[in-house]
Amino acid sequence: MKIAKPQVFLVGQTGINVPGLEAYLKETGNQEFLEVIAEARTQGLGDNELISSFFAKLCYRSLSLGKNANVKKIRSIKDNIIRTIEEGHGSIFEHACFNFALHDVSRVLTHELVRHRDGVAFSQESGRYCRLGIDITGMYIPPEIGNNPEALAIFVEAAEHALLSIEKLYEIFEIDEHDFARKKSLTSAIRRVAPTGIANEIGFSANLRAMRHIIAARTNEGAEYEIRMVIGQIAKIVEEHCPLLLHGGVKKAVAGLYQWAFPKHL
Ligand SMILES: Cc1cc2nc3c(=O)[nH]c(=O)nc-3n(C[C@H](O)[C@H](O)[C@H](O)COP(=O)(O)OP(=O)(O)OC[C@H]3O[C@@H](n4cnc5c(N)ncnc54)[C@H](O)[C@@H]3O)c2cc1C
Repeated sequence: MKIAKPQVFLVGQTGINVPGLEAYLKETGNQEFLEVIAEARTQGLGDNELISSFFAKLCYRSLSLGKNANVKKIRSIKDNIIRTIEEGHGSIFEHACFNFALHDVSRVLTHELVRHRDGVAFSQESGRYCRLGIDITGMYIPPEIGNNPEALAIFVEAAEHALLSIEKLYEIFEIDEHDFARKKSLTSAIRRVAPTGIANEIGFSANLRAMRHIIAARTNEGAEYEIRMVIGQIAKIVEEHCPLLLHGGVKKAVAGLYQWAFPKHL
């Protein structure tokens, strides 16, 4: 049996379409905003932050001075985002999103992750279509098990027994001899004896508002170790690419992993 090592890959994120943005700013007489963007880029801000601030400023006609008599000064994108978070104007963070590929995560993890409904999208490896096997299918070993040799031996034996049983069932039904539809229905029927801990792949996208919420919920010490570890990897990527999203967050090491808490709910 393969030992799975859950990993996160940032495969995409929202980007600015420069010609389109420039055309909009020209049409509305807001070209000054290009300087505000240039300043933000020198501060290390990314497109996710820039897009969020663009929509926040669009709401108040505050992309540049002189468009709204109530606006007396133009804030930097950094200050604008911090203020927006502190005011709880969370909806502007729904415009931008991150796209992740989660590799070798258990079906325990994916079952919990897909409970999030708001501002997220998932594309999960099909258990109906993808065959399992002792040399193909991985299992993540949680530390509670891995740290106890006797428990680990029983855990591995049980998982291998299940995967070998699956291979025997494929043989009984001579699965390779059938057409695609029958292969699919057999694969799906036989997967029922697979352990819930088997590793699989899932594509996970979330807008920034949802991301902040999920980081708090799933890095919490009350959550399961594997999901804390995986969402912790995501939080690290977000820290690197979109640090302002985590503004106001309290990060502390709990039980060997970082936990994030946000006093301000977006
Ligand atoms: C530590 C931990 C333990 C858990 N234990 C269990 C358990 O034992 N059993 C179990 O079934 N689940 C459990 N869950 C899952 C939990 O109940 C939620 O289903 C899951 O975390 C999704 O979060 P969410 O409801 O905030 O949804 P999200 O989709 O992430 O929603 C984000 C926010 O949007 C709002 N929202 C979303 N949908 C609605 C709606 N329909 N109506 C009103 N507001 C909405 C809420 O403010 C919500 O917080 C656990 C979660 C955690 C983090």
